[in-house]
Amino acid sequence: MADGPSLLELCRELGYRMLAHCNFCPWNCRVDRVAGTKFGACKLASSSRVSSHFHHTGEELFFRGTQGSGTIFFTSCNMRCAFCQNGDISTDKDNGEETDPRTLAAMAWTLRREGCHNINWVGGEVIIHLHAIVAAITLLGRDFVPTSTELTRARRTKADRFHVFKQVPEEAVYDDRFNAPILWNSNFFITPECMGILRLLTDVWLPDFKFGPGRCAMSLAKTPWYWETVTSNLALIADWGEEFTIRHLVMPNHVECCTFPVLEWIAEHVPTAPVNVMAQFHPDNFCDPASAKYRGKYAEIARRPTHAELDRSWRRARELGLKFETTTFERRGGLGMPMLGG
Ligand code: SF4
Repeated sequence: MADGPSLLELCRELGYRMLAHCNFCPWNCRVDRVAGTKFGACKLASSSRVSSHFHHTGEELFFRGTQGSGTIFFTSCNMRCAFCQNGDISTDKDNGEETDPRTLAAMAWTLRREGCHNINWVGGEVIIHLHAIVAAITLLGRDFVPTSTELTRARRTKADRFHVFKQVPEEAVYDDRFNAPILWNSNFFITPECMGILRLLTDVWLPDFKFGPGRCAMSLAKTPWYWETVTSNLALIADWGEEFTIRHLVMPNHVECCTFPVLEWIAEHVPTAPVNVMAQFHPDNFCDPASAKYRGKYAEIARRPTHAELDRSWRRARELGLKFETTTFERRGGLGMPMLGG
């Protein structure tokens, strides 16, 4: 390797400069997160907290493989999804442990040497932690080896720390260097400036595409500019020839306004992208009638989607010719659409 700064080091520098007038996401708060005297929509200063990290065996088969996806969960978010199924970490910025880039790198290093197929950066939302993640990846790219103190610190949030994983360091090496495929697992509410940085460090993208072009992103997630931001970012990675899989969660009473337009946009603009049309929505966070946090204004989504709603969603995906069946139904033990009532 040349002695001068690497491209990753330049990205790290850019990330820290942007943090001083934060424009990581389209809220474009312009607060100085380094000074930390004023906060933006994500309520974060410059430090990052990790809620947990572990071998994730719940991701799509081609990400979890046989050893799991090495997933690192960050706290806080730049959206406000009323139904958030990670509400404990997305709405509580103080959840987990404060984590510096060396500790983050130690987490990734450990997971990869334990056989994880990739490092899966997720939250909450990850873009709001861009500076720390780029710094960690930069370290990994410079033959990083964690100290025992860093490993101990990292272990505090390792959810599967009592499970004994076989160390397979040789599988973490490619061309004599440490190698960890980077998976960016995100709500995709990201500025073009950050997309440019992510392009240089992301191997595979796992974007959510939740809401249609109407008011749903505002009424359910208090997020303006959602449709235009996510569609433009999806078009961008398609243009760049990147590998990506889109996740769409079917929500009750939102098949016509959200699921259909999302699937139709994908069919028109990125028809070959694998899509996971997910059935696992359950009322959570502010939509769970059994919770003290429940708010009556979310009654329309305070239930699971019906079989009929899922059936309509999957039939539409099939009519549109989307590549969704393998990803969506692999856990059902087959690749076909399940037989559902109408
Ligand atoms: S990440 Fe987004 S929400 Fe957070 S301060 Fe920056 S622009 Fe604001």
